[in-house]
Amino acid sequence: MNLQVLLNPECYYSCLCHTLTTEEEEVVGLLLGSSIENENYNIVTIKLNKPLKRTDKKKDRTEVNPQQLSNCLDYAENLTKKTNKEYRIVGWYHSHPKHINVFPSEMDLKTQMQYQQMDPNFVGLIFSTFNQESTNNQGNIRVTCFQAGTSKDGYSKYEDFAHKKIPLYINPQLQTPLQPVSFEPISNLSGVIFDEQRTSYLQFLNNSKISNSNKIHTSDLIYYSGIYQKKLAMLIETLNYPILQNLQDRLEYTKELVEKKKIELRKLKNQNKSEY
Ligand SMILES: [Zn+2]
Repeated sequence: MNLQVLLNPECYYSCLCHTLTTEEEEVVGLLLGSSIENENYNIVTIKLNKPLKRTDKKKDRTEVNPQQLSNCLDYAENLTKKTNKEYRIVGWYHSHPKHINVFPSEMDLKTQMQYQQMDPNFVGLIFSTFNQESTNNQGNIRVTCFQAGTSKDGYSKYEDFAHKKIPLYINPQLQTPLQPVSFEPISNLSGVIFDEQRTSYLQFLNNSKISNSNKIHTSDLIYYSGIYQKKLAMLIETLNYPILQNLQDRLEYTKELVEKKKIELRKLKNQNKSEY
């Protein structure tokens, strides 16, 4: 069955902000939306993302734990009730930070295949970030949408599974500027990242306590608090401030749109009056 994926630009921006928060390790999240099955092809629409807190930070591997998956199912169910529109988990995304290409690893394909066994339309997105063109040193970002195939499907890159590229379209018509629900992921993102930093900080302090007869060394406290403060300041500068600016721009755009619609409405009302 042929598959096509439509991505809401708001969701693309939100995923991108998440994947740009660190160039050292992978980040991960789930994708919510809906799907339609046609006779010749299926269409998956990705409406929003759910950034997930990492329990483990690795450069080349990231995973979604069962509790996070279950919480996200509840979140999707609540959204469906709240908006009266279909929201379910249709995919996952993760980043390939510095020096890793955009292609799924063997582990990514194994994970993807497990999801596909539950839902054949389930897709994976990979954002390859912090790359530089060798010719002009300009930064670039690559995005791919994939599924896992098997040798039976005519794909045989790896021993067990293979990479099946799925057409991905960023569709501006899916953008809904006046719906607060589309702002939720981007506004929750800093909460997730700050929570991760706080957990790391407390873990470092706890390790220091264990290795120093249940006491935190003053030098360790100063050192780790310094690192924690530096990371928080960096997040405010590189994540919160650009997001705030973007939301302010969107607010201005929405205000202009409302004014234009008011003028159109007045014109239509006047037209109606003159016709009667
Ligand atoms: Zn990967």
